[in-house]
Amino acid sequence: MAGATRNTKQKQAVYEALTRLDHPTATQVYACVHTEHPTLSRGTVFRVLGAFAAEGRVRRVTLADSDTRYDHTLAPHAHGRCRVCGRVCDIFLPDYASIARGAICGGFHIDGCEVEFTGVCGTCSKGQMRGSAEEISKEKENEGTQGHQDV
Ligand SMILES: [Zn+2]
Ligand SMILES: [Zn+2]
Repeated sequence: MAGATRNTKQKQAVYEALTRLDHPTATQVYACVHTEHPTLSRGTVFRVLGAFAAEGRVRRVTLADSDTRYDHTLAPHAHGRCRVCGRVCDIFLPDYASIARGAICGGFHIDGCEVEFTGVCGTCSKGQMRGSAEEISKEKENEGTQGHQDV
């Protein structure tokens, strides 16, 4: 019984770290858990994360050029990765959920999806604006819709 209680506490600690962090990698979860629970080993944290993913309690997110990340937001959503700071943001698009949950396209039965957009997050775009607001407004006049070309 003592073992089961310890397991529950370990799971709680890992889950709390997940909710506090923003799409963390397993290593980031471990670093966060470790500060409050120094006795929790890296192996245990990784094992608990694997169990959560298997149970469907967290979503494993695989993005380009990044280690696997863990997401406690289970509602279907896409991700945006900031080109400047690397932050991963949730993007909720209209129609995305209904497609992700089971559309059939050209005979292909969709049962899940991983969509990654690239761009600049709110914080970084504000920072750029603050840095040289006048410059940017001049650039915008000259360059028009350049920022949308990647899509
Ligand atoms: Zn950013
Ligand atoms: Zn997410």
